Amino acid sequence: MLVLGIETTCDETAAAVVERHDDGRAVILANVVLSQIAEHAAFGGVVPEIAARAHVEALDLIVATAMADAGRDFGALDGVAAAAGPGLIGGVIVGLTTAKAIAMVHEKPLIAVNHLEAHALTARLTDGTAFPYCLFLASGGHTQIVAVRGVGDYVRLGTTRDDAIGEAFDKTAKLLGLGYPGGPRVEQEAAKGDRGRFILPRPMIGRQDADFSLSGLKTALRLEAEKIAPLTDRDVADLCASFQAAVVDMVVDRLRHGLRMFRQRFGAPSALVAAGGVAANQALRHALLEMAAHDEVALVVPPPALCTDNAAMIAWAGAERLVHGLHDTLDTPPRARWPLSQVTGPAAPAFPAPHAGERTEQAIATDSTETDKPEAPAADAIRSDAASSVIA
Ligand code: ADP
Ligand code: MG
Repeated sequence: MLVLGIETTCDETAAAVVERHDDGRAVILANVVLSQIAEHAAFGGVVPEIAARAHVEALDLIVATAMADAGRDFGALDGVAAAAGPGLIGGVIVGLTTAKAIAMVHEKPLIAVNHLEAHALTARLTDGTAFPYCLFLASGGHTQIVAVRGVGDYVRLGTTRDDAIGEAFDKTAKLLGLGYPGGPRVEQEAAKGDRGRFILPRPMIGRQDADFSLSGLKTALRLEAEKIAPLTDRDVADLCASFQAAVVDMVVDRLRHGLRMFRQRFGAPSALVAAGGVAANQALRHALLEMAAHDEVALVVPPPALCTDNAAMIAWAGAERLVHGLHDTLDTPPRARWPLSQVTGPAAPAFPAPHAGERTEQAIATDSTETDKPEAPAADAIRSDAASSVIA
């Protein structure tokens, strides 16, 4: 099964061609990603209007390049997949409309893929990971712990109550004058710094749920920075190291709770999978390795190029859905918000429903005020903190 995938939900314009063999094995025939980082750098974050225009300008060529790299023509495709959300709506419209046009002209099925579902299924593309597994997804727009039970069968165990982890790295970098995107810069500085110099809070640690909160940590960091401004290089490195250590401690604790919740509800996971741009962080990877060894669960971390936004994961999710006969009509709308819980799968659930009295995801979702809160920064004009300033 041969699928073209298109990704335009944020600041990467991407197209890929993936082949899924009958035994479930995957081959990535082409994977083209054009990052818009340079276009947004001056603004310290992603500007939706600039992103949408850049997608319009680049996508035709990116798709043509992917098809040429794959050495196949449109007629050979079994389906055309595009990320239909969640994300910045202008970009989503560009990608989905392009996919619809290709699908219509070449009379192929369209698969409107949920971007989060694509991240969730990437471990099956790269490692053939069997269901069910526990996913930790951490990027600039998303922070979630998800039980991945089957195609279209996802139960969110935890999420952030405020900022995404990558967003917190980006805001920290901005505050300290390190530039955008912040994650890699903060990590570089942290490697030179003393993680014990500033005592920063570890929000949520010890709580019985698997939720995250980053805003208190961000504020604490700003207050420490303001106390000692103007900052020397050493101060910046020590602040980064202290911040990163607090994030890592929180993630490890939250994942312990998430895995416990997973086991209580669904039995043993086949693996703990980490995905999203933040999973590129080496300090976090080391901590996850230790934690997974201690918890006796296999750790799967797809390579960085497939952890961050890409179209191979969209094509793969399209193939996984198409195998089950799942595809979409040409009037499928683009969606700025699209919680994973609303993604549907093949008719029968792969696993028994939770026992009576146990909270279902729906119940958890309605408890929370942020059920439909877009984890993608749909509402943020610029993904940055207006209140933060450059102190360095
Ligand atoms: P999105 O497009 O939703 O922002 P990506 O998967 O492209 O998601 O990831 C980008 C995010 O990952 C950014 O917020 C970036 O700061 C963060 N990130 C990238 N590398 C690192 C790193 N080494 N350490 C921490 N965060 C990182
Ligand atoms: Mg991105």
